[in-house]
Amino acid sequence: MNNQIQNPDSHRILLVDDNPANLNLLIAILETQDYSLSAVLDGSQALKVASEIKPDLILMDIVMPNMDGYETTKYFKSNDDTRDIPIIFITEKNEPEDIKKAFESGGVDFISKPINAEEVLVRVESHLKIQMLLKQNKKIIEELQEANLKLDAQAKTDHLTGLFNRRSIVEIIEYEITRALRSKETFCLVLGDIDHFKQLNDSYGHLAGDHILIELSQLMKKVTRDQDVLARWGGEEFLLVLPATDLVGARLLAEKIRARVAEESFDFNGQQLKVTMSFGVESCDGSDDYNDSFKTADENLYKAKSEGRNRVVG
Ligand code: GH3
Ligand code: MG
Ligand code: MG
Repeated sequence: MNNQIQNPDSHRILLVDDNPANLNLLIAILETQDYSLSAVLDGSQALKVASEIKPDLILMDIVMPNMDGYETTKYFKSNDDTRDIPIIFITEKNEPEDIKKAFESGGVDFISKPINAEEVLVRVESHLKIQMLLKQNKKIIEELQEANLKLDAQAKTDHLTGLFNRRSIVEIIEYEITRALRSKETFCLVLGDIDHFKQLNDSYGHLAGDHILIELSQLMKKVTRDQDVLARWGGEEFLLVLPATDLVGARLLAEKIRARVAEESFDFNGQQLKVTMSFGVESCDGSDDYNDSFKTADENLYKAKSEGRNRVVG
């Protein structure tokens, strides 16, 4: 028996009872409302039909041959897809022991036989309402979590380049300090600044400048390793944090970026633009104040500028 009374917009209710007369009575009661009803005669059919119709609520007899209502309910509760479906037991067993067992196996409510139409309707309606509110809450929580993740990502990101911003790279440096202390390895800071960028803006316009900032960000990401962290430190200044890297390695990487930038032509509306960058490098171990290391990297950058630009100092 698998009676189905369908209305696609209405709540779906699955009725499980080994006695067809009981099923017919429940159908007669629930038919008076706008529900989609499915009825099955045993637990294994209940599991099968539930996976197809995804009911909003199940009315479950307890005493059934093969798999009883408790056992069937435990199956429902052990499966991620069916765990949240509320199950109301309908049974003659209404000793306190039985009621306890019904709730322990995962039921949300209990209706005693002989079946009373009013009671069935009221309990079904109230559990459907609770279920709807729970679903809405879950959806709102998921939406809020998603929005929070987005806001979090935005707060950490530089709008133009998509790189980390200054605030988030400071957090990353603080984390690197604790890691360096533990591992006794150094990490390095590389501060890079575009040479004569003001001139480029003045000659080709601010949009051309923005385009170069984006292209350089991508180029630097390409040249660095996944674990290296790149941020836009300020206007046309970039800061690279190189975990588990010594000064020699950091200089080599900065030099590699410098050379790649210098050889590149950036197309902007058909015009081939060229830029160079200067770099200041400094290492930092867990015991250093990173502000001092940063200050040294900045002084080295200043030296690179005063020594003629398009070079690495550190
Ligand atoms: P130097 O070689 O000494 O670094 O010279 P510079 O011209 O690069 O340095 P300066 O500090 O004199 O000027 C920096 C320029 O960077 C000026 C500013 O307009 C430009 N700049 C900063 N942020 C942005 C931005 O977001 N977009 C664009 N297009 N330009 C920017
Ligand atoms: Mg500059
Ligand atoms: Mg600058």
